[in-house]
Amino acid sequence: MSDRFGIYLHVPYCRSKCRYCDFYAAPGQRGVPEEYVAALLRELAKNSRRPDTLYFGGGTPGLLSPAQVAALIGAADPLPGAEITLEANPDTVTPEPLTGFAAAGVTRISFGVQSALDDQLRRLGRTHTAAQAARALEWAGAAGFQSVCGDIMLALPQYTNAEFDATLALLAGGGCTHISAYLLKIEPGTAFFRNPPPGLPDADAAADFYLYAVDRLEAAGYHQYEISNFCKPGYEGRHNLLYWNCQDYLGIGPAAHSCLEGVRRFWPNDTPAFIAGTLREEEEGVCNGEDFLMMQLRLCSGLDLEEYAARYGVRFTPRQQAFLDQCVAHGYARRQGSRLQLTPAGMVVQNAILTELI
Ligand code: SF4
Repeated sequence: MSDRFGIYLHVPYCRSKCRYCDFYAAPGQRGVPEEYVAALLRELAKNSRRPDTLYFGGGTPGLLSPAQVAALIGAADPLPGAEITLEANPDTVTPEPLTGFAAAGVTRISFGVQSALDDQLRRLGRTHTAAQAARALEWAGAAGFQSVCGDIMLALPQYTNAEFDATLALLAGGGCTHISAYLLKIEPGTAFFRNPPPGLPDADAAADFYLYAVDRLEAAGYHQYEISNFCKPGYEGRHNLLYWNCQDYLGIGPAAHSCLEGVRRFWPNDTPAFIAGTLREEEEGVCNGEDFLMMQLRLCSGLDLEEYAARYGVRFTPRQQAFLDQCVAHGYARRQGSRLQLTPAGMVVQNAILTELI
């Protein structure tokens, strides 16, 4: 059992469905039904381990009322000093619930901003505008949040570096301490998969947008600590670090995943059955050396080869060593003592590197 422990609560409700989104979330919601909160409370009551991180993800957890959030935090019983994150959309909050979330114990608020261009936001099916995003960030600061996160999507249809610059300026100007920058992926089952938007960048152009974003974020004082995550010093997301460091987390709600003592489980996507108490978690397998390798190489701190050998008894073959030497020689990886780290250029081709190492 690892010493760190986090709880993830999934909130499968959204106002409307974004065209790129394959998360499990029902659109058309203005709030979160009490019976769903009751189901989360029922499952939380089965856990006695106190978390040092609690994460409200979705979906749109910002649709919860402050009273619902307070009840869930109380039931999760986090340790003193816990990081408690809540995801929200810029158009689902006003000053009142933001103040209420902070009073309930939320320490970190995360906004899905995605772009500073209203045309782009409309194309994505987002329901907010850039002005609403700027206002939500301002209100979060006024509500007392010291830790404010913003998401940016990269390589969107008709994307330009100028769009990235404008979005970074919006987030940095709004006081964000943490920025997640994700490349758009067209996932099966989404509106974009059925009707791909014109002007999508190809893989090479997407890689260039990513490398440009890393460069600009670093220049703006957001240091990269994971493939898609950047922050001001000391503002790393402690909850997601549990995932990447293969530590224990308990997920509750349909589509939520857990990994406890090396065993991975998930709840199937069925909200009515979850509410009724008839849904059962399914086992996904054990967290093994390959999972550890993949997760650690997402982090800029990289994989400690000595720890890898000690934990899983795995050492790279001479052929894999030679491949890694080539990666280092070509600027895709670096070695720091016993650590193997991917550079931003290596992160772009991480899948190809992993294929050689696994
Ligand atoms: S991207 Fe977020 S807000 Fe949009 S549908 Fe998916 S979960 Fe909901």
